[in-house]
Amino acid sequence: MTWRDLAACKGMDTDNFYRDTAGRPTKANRVHPTCATCPVQVPCLNDALDRFEPFGIWGGVTPRGRERILNRRLTTDGYRAVNYPRSRYG
Ligand code: SF4
Repeated sequence: MTWRDLAACKGMDTDNFYRDTAGRPTKANRVHPTCATCPVQVPCLNDALDRFEPFGIWGGVTPRGRERILNRRLTTDGYRAVNYPRSRYG
């Protein structure tokens, strides 16, 4: 069993966690309550951070939010900042 097996979003429409083709959050109002009560929010977010996942909402955090977290970590360690592409699907 992995953290994914315990995900509150398991079986949900993944469109809830990505943006539409116009760049708007898709059904974003339904995403955050799901993540906020998810028992695996921390491992989900850490997994996305470890993989530098540039798309979708993971652990309740948007790509822009993860970029900020990574940049704080990386610049503290002396590495270059992360700049995710400003994708329409981010
Ligand atoms: S934190 Fe959100 S995206 Fe991650 S597994 Fe839980 S519900 Fe899904």
